[in-house]
Parts: sequence; structure tokens; C-alpha cells
Amino acid sequence: MVVMKFGGSSVADAARIRHVADIIKSQLLRKPAVVLSAMGDTTDHLLEAADKALKEGKVDISDVEKLHTTTIKALKLGVQKEIAALLDELARLLSGIALIRELTPRTKDYLVSFGERLSVRIAAGYLKSIGVNAKAFDAFDLGFLSDSNYTKAELLKESWDLIPQKILPLIKGNVVPIITGFIAKDEKGTITTLGRGGSDLSATMIAAACKADEVQVWKDVDGILTADPRIVKNAKPVESVTYEEAAELAYFGAQVLHPRAMQPCMKTGTPVVVKNSYNIDAPGTRIEPVAAGIVNKRPPVRAITSRQKITLVDIVSTRMLGQYGFLAEVFSVFARYNISIDMVATSEVSVSLTLDTAYDLTEVKKELGKIASIEVKTGKAIVSIVGNVKRSSEILARAFRTCQFIGVTVQMVSQGASKVNISFIVNDTEAAETVKALHIDFFDKLERN
Ligand code: ASP
Ligand code: MG
Repeated sequence: MVVMKFGGSSVADAARIRHVADIIKSQLLRKPAVVLSAMGDTTDHLLEAADKALKEGKVDISDVEKLHTTTIKALKLGVQKEIAALLDELARLLSGIALIRELTPRTKDYLVSFGERLSVRIAAGYLKSIGVNAKAFDAFDLGFLSDSNYTKAELLKESWDLIPQKILPLIKGNVVPIITGFIAKDEKGTITTLGRGGSDLSATMIAAACKADEVQVWKDVDGILTADPRIVKNAKPVESVTYEEAAELAYFGAQVLHPRAMQPCMKTGTPVVVKNSYNIDAPGTRIEPVAAGIVNKRPPVRAITSRQKITLVDIVSTRMLGQYGFLAEVFSVFARYNISIDMVATSEVSVSLTLDTAYDLTEVKKELGKIASIEVKTGKAIVSIVGNVKRSSEILARAFRTCQFIGVTVQMVSQGASKVNISFIVNDTEAAETVKALHIDFFDKLERN
């Protein structure tokens, strides 16, 4: 069994759905279960419609309606009734929101669930019309049970048993289930969502729980790249990475797979293959457990990423000298204001840390000001080199030589003992140049040798 997941852009219109159907058809022998996102930007359009209902009291589902009805027509499908019923339910929900002018997180989840519920019915309808034994399913009917943390629900442990109980008999019966990504239900039977981009998690959860051979995540890029192609024109797909490396890459801006999405497969060792639906023959990137021996034989660096709009906070206090509890005190202040810290570096009398510039630090500054002197510097970027930290001396030497060569001053460095990334801070304005230069050093030269 394999799990195949297609994101919004892969099922954006009739032509894309035909193409996806071909990909599915070519792997019928591998017994696929398919997970789909909402078509194109439907999730955003649903949220915009909700906003309009909330603020202007207007019900307008024209974007969503048009996309889905023209797609059905273009694919010549007989699922109009099912789709019309869902669109009707959606319009009624929006009327409710327009009337009471309230949009709770719970209602929001119910609202955005329509995107995936629509897309799977259309895709399954088309697959059936070309002779595939496909059937549309809402994930909550196939064991997706979550907590009630609306808009970012977590799947409950029970899902690990429920999902295979429901899905494996379908697979054995040669049904190709076309399953909604992103959504679940809580124990009360209310629809929940797993957070934006949550369809990847739906797919990896099915693959892990059903012990599938692999999960294929079909995107519109050739896999995980050695750098952001907008910055580095000749960025190349990486053949294979470990789950940990992929998680670091995702966090630092290589938006290929959300770290959360990797978790189920990390537990079971199920390989995740990132493939390009626009370039089927490209091998893609395999995310899998790799034995240390192999890791050591690979080139030292997998990829280079950067994250901009970072604020650097420098906290200096002589009270820290030989004291205990100072760091705890500092971090508890950030925690109280729900501020997520990314990088940390400490010395005997100071701690430097980074966070997203979007956070408001007014209150934090006041509170920390009572115990230390604090300096806030905006306009920074984190450059991260993800690779084999066992070869960190080599990586650091080469990276810093490159920075020195292009005249960029490294302002803070962090490297964990067991982590797979080495990160450092430069000015935002220097980030792209730094990534480019590092890419030349670690990848282009390698090719020439
Ligand atoms: N449709 C949802 C979103 O746009 C879930 C997903 O695509 O993964 O966030
Ligand atoms: Mg989407």
C-alpha cells in the first residue's frame, strides 16, 4: 500500500485533476490511498467569504461555487447533486454567520472543511468516470478523531487503531479511497481541522497507521531543494534527507513539508517521498531514517536556508554570573507573552536570543528591564546550514571563511550538540548574498571537483 497526497495547486482545476488521476492510475498496482487538499485557493476563499459575512453581513460564495461547478462541467461528471448539496449547506452556514455576526473557531473549522469535502467528491467522480474503483471519504468517517482544539486540533491516540481498521478493508477490497486531508472530528462529533497545511499530516498519519510502504507528497517543486530557488537559481533537489534534517529545513523556510507532518512517519520509519506533479519523472526527495554510516559518507551539507525579519535580543546582567535560575527567569517572561524563541546563545553574563520581528516586545522589555539591561536589534536574518553536524568543524570553517570573503559579519552562532543545523545571524540585507555564496562553496564547487 502507498499513500498519495496532492495539495491544492495539484488539484486546482479540471486539467490538474485529470493529470492527478493519471498519476494515481499509473500506481494502481501499489494499492494507493489518496489524500487531497481543497482545490486551489479554496481554503483562503472560504475564509474571505466568512470575513465578508462577518463584517458586511453579505453571503458570497461565488468564487468557490464557480471553481467547483466549472470543474464538474469540464470533467463531465455526474456529481452535481452531491456538490450542490454541499454548496447549499455552505451558503446556509454563511447566512448564519452574516446574521449573528460571529465566527467562533469551531464554526471556522466547519466552514473551511467544505474545501476538502468538495475536492474529494469531484476527484473521485472523475476517477470513477475513467474506470478506477475510487470512492470519496471524509476523513472523520475513516478514523480521524481529534481533540477539540479548533483550527489546530491534534489527532487522538485512538486514531492509530481506528484509521487502519477503516482503511485497510477498503484497500483489500481494491477500493481507491479518496480522502479529505486537513479535517477530523472531535469526540462530540464536531468537525475540526489540523491547522493550515494539515493535509500533509493527514497523509503521513494514514501511511504510518496503516504501515504503508511509503507516502508520496506531490507538490509543484522537484522535492526539497539545496536552497530557495528564488535566491539560488541553480538550487538542486536533494536526493535523501533524514526526518530531522527535513524538519529543520521546513522550519527555516524551505516550505516543503511541515515538521508536524513528519511525526507519524518518524515513529514508524515510513519513508516520505516528495514528488513534483508537474515533473513526474524527477526522482523527488526521500525523507527516511538513514543509518549513521550512510550519513557520514554523504557530502557534509544537505541544504542552506534563511529566514528573514528576525529580531535579536541581547540581555546582559552581571547577576547571571555563577547564579542559577536566571535563564529560567528570562525565558518565563517570553513564555508569559506567548513569544516563541528560535535561537539562543549564552555567555557567563549575557544571553542572546532571536525571535520573529512580528512580536510586540513592549511588555517584555519592561519586565526584563527590571533584572537586566536589554538591547533589541531588528532587521536580522537567520542563515541555517542543515547537514551532518559531526562534520561541524569543516562546515563552520568553510562557512565563516565564505562570510569573511564576502564581507559579512556573523553576529551570533548556534549549534546544538545533536542537532542537524548550524545557524547564524546576519543582517537581513545580507541574507540572500550569504546564502548564494555558501551555496557556491558547498554545492557548485563540489560538482566541479
Ligand atoms: N486546504 C488546507 C489549507 O490550505 C489544508 C492543506 O492544504 O493542507 O491550509
Ligand atoms: Mg491549500
